[in-house]
Amino acid sequence: MTNLTPLINSSLSKELHATIYLLGYLAQRESFKVFAVGGFVRDLLLGKENRDLDLVVDRSATEYAKHVAKILPGRLQCFERFGTAKLILSRGIIFDLVTARQEFYAGPGALPDIERSSLKNDLYRRDFTINTMACALNPEKFGRLYDYFGGREDLERGIIRILYNLSFVDDPLRIIRAIRFEQRFDFIIEEDTYLMLRKAIANRMLEKVSKERLYNEIRLVFKEPSPLKILIRLNELQLFKDIFPRLEFNGQLKERLLLLEKRIAEPAESGLEGNCNYFILYLSALFYDLSEHDTAYLCHLMRLKRKERLALFAILKKVPEAISKIKQASVSPAQLYFLLHELPKEGLALMTVLERDPHLCEQISYFKQELACRRPLITGKDLLEKGLKPGPAFNRVLKSLYEAVLDGKVAGKEEELAFVTFLIKKNKICEEAGEGDN
Ligand code: ATP
Repeated sequence: MTNLTPLINSSLSKELHATIYLLGYLAQRESFKVFAVGGFVRDLLLGKENRDLDLVVDRSATEYAKHVAKILPGRLQCFERFGTAKLILSRGIIFDLVTARQEFYAGPGALPDIERSSLKNDLYRRDFTINTMACALNPEKFGRLYDYFGGREDLERGIIRILYNLSFVDDPLRIIRAIRFEQRFDFIIEEDTYLMLRKAIANRMLEKVSKERLYNEIRLVFKEPSPLKILIRLNELQLFKDIFPRLEFNGQLKERLLLLEKRIAEPAESGLEGNCNYFILYLSALFYDLSEHDTAYLCHLMRLKRKERLALFAILKKVPEAISKIKQASVSPAQLYFLLHELPKEGLALMTVLERDPHLCEQISYFKQELACRRPLITGKDLLEKGLKPGPAFNRVLKSLYEAVLDGKVAGKEEELAFVTFLIKKNKICEEAGEGDN
């Protein structure tokens, strides 16, 4: 089959299906030629939907993107200098648009076939044959497959193959990408490609890549269904220690990651929330035994954002503290609440991975199911109405009330009001005293 229309019609969601046709229609109307390329075509042939679409446009990709954005509103970024654009639609559909380059084959002999050669040139710059296929979107050729480098056969045979011998030298990041695709699809890295990959590793080619690019690629590892498989492979190829210096890939760490993957695979049972940041979760599992100093070093090396660093440090500091307190003594519900509620949600998830102690697991689910949503019915506004002025005393009353509600000592608005009145009287807090109850 050299036409992918039946696959497009059968294996895409309605929304993406309609979007693809619309892209082709708009291209025709505005006299562009547009092709979907790379991962989208690869995944289509594998019967999977990829909502991250790479589009090659025969003339200005930015101009075409602006036309698309008028019909499909989203966040549009145009990079006129590079002839590229990005359009992010709601519900996770993303277009990356590039202008096809024409310089490569554009000698006089190639002139009649310039459209074909510029597309081919664009595809030749890609990483592996399985990512070099293109699919026409213009209505007149809709669905037509362009496969210049044997991508389809390699896909069917399960092979990762570079396009030319110096591919890993030109872009050493492809080493990581090869391993990622190999493990994701359970493919085999073709013999010559593997030799070149080993050679590039031996020549320490990855050191030539900027840290930003390297760790952006490493982030993608943690979006894969099994990051652990990839980390094991990186370790086999002696890359793990270069990517995560100071981190020992030992049995204990593997065990922890394995458990984490099991939990992630069954989110309902493990209580993992949908909006959990898996990157932070994996990093906290990876760095759990590291000293603060080494963690800070890796955070810097990996160019983590401030928000990510803060979340990671909060987890690494508070999780062990909370575990030991909950395990050692019997903590009251209020104490349990205040130990856990400030933890980023990834921290709670990590706790359930680290600890199989039934008491601790019970406490965590008690917190999530009962305590997390238990709060006083009266608010600061009620205290203001009782004549209390904002300040430390005010906050203490509110906190004591919160503790009493969590511990089940008071229930219902009336009891809460009585409790607050009692506290105010007991501590002689009154309007005049304002800030100072002592
Ligand atoms: P995924 O399913 O992980 O998103 P993808 O193939 O769509 O896979 P992207 O990282 O989105 O991967 O890249 C889009 C396309 O750009 C790839 O299919 C590939 O053709 C090309 N590409 C990406 N990175 C490189 C690279 N380092 N060298 C050459 N081509 C690359």
